[in-house]
Amino acid sequence: NEAQVRDLVESRLVTIPDFPEPGIVFRDLTPVFADAAAFHALAGALTAPFDGAFDHLAGVEARGFLLAGAASVLSGAGVLPVRKAGKLPRAVLNEEYALEYGSAALEVHEGELAPGSRVLIVDDVLATGGTVAAAARLVERAGWQVAGISVAIELEALGARSLLDGRYEVHSLLTY
Ligand code: AMP
Repeated sequence: NEAQVRDLVESRLVTIPDFPEPGIVFRDLTPVFADAAAFHALAGALTAPFDGAFDHLAGVEARGFLLAGAASVLSGAGVLPVRKAGKLPRAVLNEEYALEYGSAALEVHEGELAPGSRVLIVDDVLATGGTVAAAARLVERAGWQVAGISVAIELEALGARSLLDGRYEVHSLLTY
């Protein structure tokens, strides 16, 4: 059950203070990815709350790709890669979002999925929520529906819930 998955993931998770810069407490899931049982359990726990409610998984570059790929094999839903700007070869939709300093942009291929497809957005860490909010805007502009947002870790103090403004169902396995 989810409590067991939470314990397993938490036992592998590594916390690094002051990375990549002073004041940031970095949550590193690479030891979870390296442990097949923990990775498998995490991928299942990300989609379980949304069972039957999604047709595709949107993984946000780059750690979201790993989670979406694993969850795809377990759930049978295909993957929509949400890429950093300039990587996709065909016509794209582009959404900018704010970073602590400056901005970045994410892209999807327009027309990649059928109209109305229900897309579950997955990522490793929910901090300010700017990244998944941009992914959600892309899904909606493309004519698909956001089935929900599912993350391994939510950093509550950064206020993603208020940015996402109750518009999406958000699930986080671990909260700090
Ligand atoms: P945000 O847009 O602020 O919600 O940031 C989320 C993105 O930045 C995710 O894709 C995470 O991979 C990464 N991220 C932000 N803060 C952290 C953190 N403290 N530890 C690990 N990754 C983080």
